[in-house]
Amino acid sequence: MTAGLPETDQALLRAIVSERGPAQRRALAKAITLLESTRADHRERADALLDALLPHAGGAFRMGLSGVPGAGKSTFIEALGIFLADRGHRIAVLAVDPSSTLSGGSILGDKTRMQRLGAHERAFIRPSPSGGTLGGVADKTREAIIVCEAAGHDIVVVETVGVGQSETAVHGMTDCFCLLQLPNAGDDLQAIKKGVMELADLVAINKADLDEAAAMRARAQITSALRFFGTHAHAAQADDAADSWRPEVLQISALQAQGLDAFWDAVTRFRERQAAHGRLAARRRAQDRAWMWERIEAGLRERFKTHPDVGRALPRLSEDVEAGRVAPSVAARRLLDLMN
Ligand code: GDP
Repeated sequence: MTAGLPETDQALLRAIVSERGPAQRRALAKAITLLESTRADHRERADALLDALLPHAGGAFRMGLSGVPGAGKSTFIEALGIFLADRGHRIAVLAVDPSSTLSGGSILGDKTRMQRLGAHERAFIRPSPSGGTLGGVADKTREAIIVCEAAGHDIVVVETVGVGQSETAVHGMTDCFCLLQLPNAGDDLQAIKKGVMELADLVAINKADLDEAAAMRARAQITSALRFFGTHAHAAQADDAADSWRPEVLQISALQAQGLDAFWDAVTRFRERQAAHGRLAARRRAQDRAWMWERIEAGLRERFKTHPDVGRALPRLSEDVEAGRVAPSVAARRLLDLMN
């Protein structure tokens, strides 16, 4: 498995799999930087490294977390991460931030976040890869999950913001997708409208310390909304509806580290329930297939756009389509044929 790796990458592999502490952290960061690189020679090395790491991966519980900016994601992940790390878990935190793709800026503002968790010896935090398409960013994060798992992290949290398609992407790479909500009606209605609520396995209403009554109202509202959405989405995966998971809604205060144990109990119940019915493994198989196809489609698009014959024929055929001289479907077929 490791025979094809150059000497430096063999050392990297050994450090990721066998080291602990700062040496392992450095190796993790280095490996992820390698697979985020756009250089062709780096990509070749990264692919070989991923092949070698894959047999060591797969062992973590992968948790997605989403919520609008300000919902308290970083406060929550820090509190939960410390709670879990103190209990012996090794936690890795990754992110998919669409804003870093679009503007070069980051909503998740990685530099100053989660400093206490970042300093914990059993935690590893990696900012969102930046640049490229959302698909590209999500791809790098998926690969980073493999690296973190090979390093023995048993919990991987993938964070994203509650805007745009990134939630679907994170749902597609995690075992359990959690939504962090604020205790006011505006936000939950927004999530319901966008269809994000249907993706949720768990909902946590944060900042319950600010207004307990509002948090309870939000909990009731979301619970009834989930009764409609949740059972449908989850029943589709279940053998029969009676088995299906009903998404739970909890109240927490990330700032005061309240409700973390109840939250983790709910995650554990979800995990055991899904595992018992073979649904965790099935979800991962479906995710892996979808990931492969997503990459095939992205690769084909890229090859099409950079193909010299296509580049030459495209302006004329576009004009013909716009002028009504050639049907769009015919132009598409002619262009695709140029790739043969
Ligand atoms: P993010 O943008 O979702 O990562 O949100 P942050 O974690 O940065 O939190 C946004 C603000 O809300 C910060 O000022 C936090 O201190 C505050 N905050 C987060 N969780 C709680 C909570 O449970 N209660 C209260 N009162 N404030 C909170």
